[in-house]
Amino acid sequence: MLKENNIPLSKIKNIFLDRDGVINRRKIGGYILNKAEFELLDGVLEKLKSWSIKGKRLFIITNQKGVGKGLMTENDLENLHQHMLAIFAENNIRIEDIKYCTALSDNDFRRKPNPGMLLEIFDEFQFVKPSETLFIGDSLSDLQAGKAVGTYTCFLHNNLELSDQIRQNADLIFESLLKTEIPF
Ligand SMILES: [Mg+2]
Repeated sequence: MLKENNIPLSKIKNIFLDRDGVINRRKIGGYILNKAEFELLDGVLEKLKSWSIKGKRLFIITNQKGVGKGLMTENDLENLHQHMLAIFAENNIRIEDIKYCTALSDNDFRRKPNPGMLLEIFDEFQFVKPSETLFIGDSLSDLQAGKAVGTYTCFLHNNLELSDQIRQNADLIFESLLKTEIPF
């Protein structure tokens, strides 16, 4: 762990997860278009399973501009997510909900770093409180979206250099989900 603020980790009940680069391998400069391109990162199943067993509620929050660009349909994206959820279910991992944003415009309120998708979760799941939530992502936009609504934030650096902005916005920093050690 490269950084730890005094955050009350024992109070964290909800984990928001970015998808690409956190759960599955990202395609630099591209989009995961189908099942064949979807590759889970090392240790993701074990980690999510352990959190599920501890009763943490898991949500996925992902920008998917590939749909807005016409590279894939919303149906393709939904099918990919069904594939992912089936793998998770086989491993006793429960995902409460997946929020995705297909908008092209960075001004779209749902597109991270804007907080629209997070606010939808707080609205639809009234027991989910920002102060009991940790947002884990591999982009500055994930951290900014979390900070905008008052969640705690965890950055996965995947061995890339950390910018000052990332250091300022991340409460926790680890290399990858596999390396994440959160003492809940
Ligand atoms: Mg990402």
